[in-house]
Amino acid sequence: MPDATFSALPTTVFEEMSGLARAHGAINLGQGFPDDPGPEALRRKAAEAVLEGYNQYPPMAGLPELRTAVAGHYHRTQGLALDPMTEVVITSGATEALAATFLALIEPGDEVIVFQPLYDAYLPLIRRAGGTPRLISLSPPHWRFTRAMLEAAITPRTRFVVLNNPVNPTGVVVSHDDLTILAEVCVANDLIAVCDEVWEQVVFGPAVHRPLMAFPGMAGRCVKIGSAGKMFGLTGWKVGFVCAAEPLARLVAKAHQFLTFTTPPNLQTAAAFGLETGADWFRTMPRTLAASQACLAQALEREGFRVLRSSGTYFLNVDLAASGVGLGDRDFALLAVREAGVAAIPVSALYETEPVTTILRLCFAKADETLEAGAVRLARARDLAARPGGQPPAGRAI
Ligand code: PMP
Ligand code: GLN
Repeated sequence: MPDATFSALPTTVFEEMSGLARAHGAINLGQGFPDDPGPEALRRKAAEAVLEGYNQYPPMAGLPELRTAVAGHYHRTQGLALDPMTEVVITSGATEALAATFLALIEPGDEVIVFQPLYDAYLPLIRRAGGTPRLISLSPPHWRFTRAMLEAAITPRTRFVVLNNPVNPTGVVVSHDDLTILAEVCVANDLIAVCDEVWEQVVFGPAVHRPLMAFPGMAGRCVKIGSAGKMFGLTGWKVGFVCAAEPLARLVAKAHQFLTFTTPPNLQTAAAFGLETGADWFRTMPRTLAASQACLAQALEREGFRVLRSSGTYFLNVDLAASGVGLGDRDFALLAVREAGVAAIPVSALYETEPVTTILRLCFAKADETLEAGAVRLARARDLAARPGGQPPAGRAI
């Protein structure tokens, strides 16, 4: 395991590209965060909770009011029946939920199936927990897995599969049929599914998010992970939820107690309020984002880019090869941020092996003027890439 130590890891592509965007004063369509301040009632609730509420350690597994609100929300929106006191644990963001889950459940030598492109935290955390990732590579434009791919990845040591749905960076919302296949494979091979569903509320009709936990045989073998930061467009809040059957939830809580022990109570109070009162927000937020996606997609198409639209998340993708860009995605992204003033995420950074190098991820959770300007700047980057020699400036930024 040559790359098992954290010291060998690169800085994440999100930090790298946001750092470059700041250094070059670029429009940042890279790292996924909205440019609007988020629901005011929630922010007020959090502020009030800081001023007038309880600011000491809350219970390790989360404030009862938030655990109850999480269970209620998933009952209303996804038909799940979770016991708030034994099947919901609050964590400091989905990132901590992932870390706690992997640390709690993986035993050295366990194999863990993951799909690439993948959210960048998975592999270092799985390895540090003693697991061995087994990668399944997905390809544009549909990014679908098949039963044959899953079965080919399974060995006698396979114990887990990690499913991110809706998928960052591809914007896919996994279909009922594909979830059925995955559930059947999990049941047949006695696998636990770690379901990173942080984007579950950011889904554009007609797509529908379905939790894998609701499929036959899956209730006792899923760890479902959510994030208030993503639900309410407040990405810095770092309030995560783990939902799982009691034996799994209890183990995850044990790992959580030695990671962060707890999560700021004021933000938990505000997240509970948001879940209890957020019906309008959950209806309007995806519509607003769908309009933003349309704005960016149309601006890019006007500039001659081939766009792969998404069914969920804050992201769409551009097929660089089909858009007249000869450079690889990373070189193009470096050129775009340094010389054309627009930051994006090269999707190759989210593969560990045999990367697809022709796809660029763009965040559309921004004002229309920003998106329009970003598209124009990306077209300028394409022109720069096509100049004689067309080479990007050498070297890494950080
Ligand atoms: N998983 C995925 C797929 C994500 O996209 C993100 C953040 N964008 C996270 C986990 C982390 O969520 P949090 O900020 O709540 O830690
Ligand atoms: N999830 C965010 C994205 O995909 C990034 C989170 C992070 O910076 N670690 O852009």
